[in-house]
Formats: sequence, C-alpha cells, structure tokens
Amino acid sequence: MPVRVGIPRALYYHRYRVLWHVFLTELGAEVLVSEPTSKQIMDAGISCCVNEACLPVKIFHGHMESLKTQVDRLFVPRLTSISRDEYVCPKLGGLPDMLRSSIRDLPPLLDHEVNLRKSPESSWQSAKAIGKELCSDPYRVRRAYEMALTVYRGVRRMQISGMLNLGSQEREQVCSPKFRIAMLGHSYLLNDPYASMNILKKLKSKGVKLITTEEMDPRIIREQLHCNMKQPFWNHAREIMGSLSFLLQLGILDGVMYITAFGCGIDAFVEDMAARMAKGFGSGIPWIRIVLDEHSGEAGTDTRLEAFLDMMEGRKSHAHHFSPNGEYLYPCESHAGRFGP
Ligand code: SF4
Repeated sequence: MPVRVGIPRALYYHRYRVLWHVFLTELGAEVLVSEPTSKQIMDAGISCCVNEACLPVKIFHGHMESLKTQVDRLFVPRLTSISRDEYVCPKLGGLPDMLRSSIRDLPPLLDHEVNLRKSPESSWQSAKAIGKELCSDPYRVRRAYEMALTVYRGVRRMQISGMLNLGSQEREQVCSPKFRIAMLGHSYLLNDPYASMNILKKLKSKGVKLITTEEMDPRIIREQLHCNMKQPFWNHAREIMGSLSFLLQLGILDGVMYITAFGCGIDAFVEDMAARMAKGFGSGIPWIRIVLDEHSGEAGTDTRLEAFLDMMEGRKSHAHHFSPNGEYLYPCESHAGRFGP
C-alpha cells in the first residue's frame, strides 16, 4: 500500500505545490493536500499555536491539525535558504520544531532541511533523504527529483510570462487595464483567498491589473538589486525591493498595495524600506498597506479598497491634485515628491 503523505495548503505550498506534488507522486506516495483555508482551519490553528506567531504560521498549524489523522507522514521541509546567498524567515526554519511542541499526536514529519546558502546541493540532498524514507530505489528518487524540477521550471516560466493567471477577459484588461497596481506581499498570503479576504479577485473584477513579485523574472530582480542597492538579507525583501525598483523605473504603476500579516517581523523592515524607495522616486505614487490578522473584518477592508480605487481615479482625472494619502490638493500646492507614502 502506498504511503500517504499530507501537505498542508499553506506557506510555501503556494509556491512549490507543483514541485512537491510531482516529486512525492513519482516516488509512489499518495499525496493528500489539506482543504483550502476556512474559518475552522484558522480557528484550529489559533487555538494550538503560540499567540506570538504571525497569521500564516497559525494558519499552517490549522492545516496540520486537519491532516494529522488522515496520513502516515506530513511533509514540512525545513526551509532555511531557498536561493543563493539569501535566507527565508527563521520561523520557517524552526517550523517543524514548533509544530512538534504545539500539536499532539503528529505522525512522523518529513522535515529535511533545504539550505542553499550552505550548499548548492542542499535541495538534492534533502530530496535524497526524503526518497530514502519513501522508496528503496535510488534511481527512482533521482528520476522523481529531475522530473519535479522540470515541471516546476515550466510552470515558473509560464508564471513569469504572465500566462497562467490570464483568462481571456483578463487578457483584454492587460491591454488597457483601468489601473496597474504592484501587489507586494508574501505569496502565501496573496494566494490564500480566505486569509487575504479575496483581495486579488475583488481587484481583478474591477478591471485592475495586478503585478505580483511571482510574475517577475528573477534575473531582473537580481539585476535591480545589483545596480541599485545594498543586497537585503531576506529572500522576501529581495523579491519586493527588486520588483518595486523595476516597476517604478518603468513608470507604469498607478498605485502600490502592500499586504502584510500582523506579527510579521520581516515586513516590519521590508515595508518601510519599500515605502521609502517609492517615496524616493518622487512620483507621490498612491500607497496602501493592508494588515491581515485573524480578526480582520471584510467590510472594513472592502471600504479601504474602494477608497484606494477612488483615489487613483481622482489622481488620473485631476492629474496629481490628489495626494497619495487621499487629501485634496490645490494645483499650486502639488509637486512631485512632497507627498510620499
Ligand atoms: S516572513 Fe513574516 S509572515 Fe512569513 S513566516 Fe515569517 S513572520 Fe510569518
């Protein structure tokens, strides 16, 4: 009988789902992914996780709770560094230990470390260790790893070219969208409709073209960082700073939306750095920050989205007489750079 491996639909699942799914399936495992986040899952996570944790980590705990009785193993890779010379948040490196101490009766975890900063071979070493636990044939493990990488790279190429997210209606919007907004934030928040209160879908339905860091070519991000700034330490910071720098230089943005989670230590720095960068461009570009937590009310967030769209509309039709903070300016008072975020 195949081993049943559970993958929580949270955190880096949203980025690596294809890679993980193909790899485990090719090894002969039966993969079970938890249901999309719901109130029950979030509540389960809140009740078993420590209070100080950020929202995505609490949600991850909820997904683990929902899966633990249905599977033989749980897949929780210990992610320390997922790209050269960069680190991910320390909460993710310590996640398997946190889970073991917070949740009772967990099945064994597949928690092998990926640390590309230590060794470029680290992801293969981790795959080999997982392979040993699930199948006895080393050739099959190598094949599964290579196939998973090939499929994942193909999906990334499509994502970067913007093809994946574009339905036919959306394609028309791309040609002449009402607004273009840089959507900054963790992919695991943006791609979780419940946690993010469906912000992406709501904005798209209003004719807004959203540009996320996932769609940006990593080569462009590296080039921007190399030319324009000191290299940030965190992977998340590099993606945001490199993407924003490129988009601001292109001059195509009508606004910037920064989605963050209550309790995110990294965003406490990164958001401020990004806001200063936008201000430094002197365009007075409209900027909104939305903080998500377990108590976020959807009605309040919807009102803020509407107000943000109205402000961008106002700035489009009255040139720059609306400040990025929503305050009306007389023409003689407005000048670039004065009203930053
Ligand atoms: S980066 Fe922020 S949101 Fe993500 S796990 Fe770390 S603290 Fe939580």
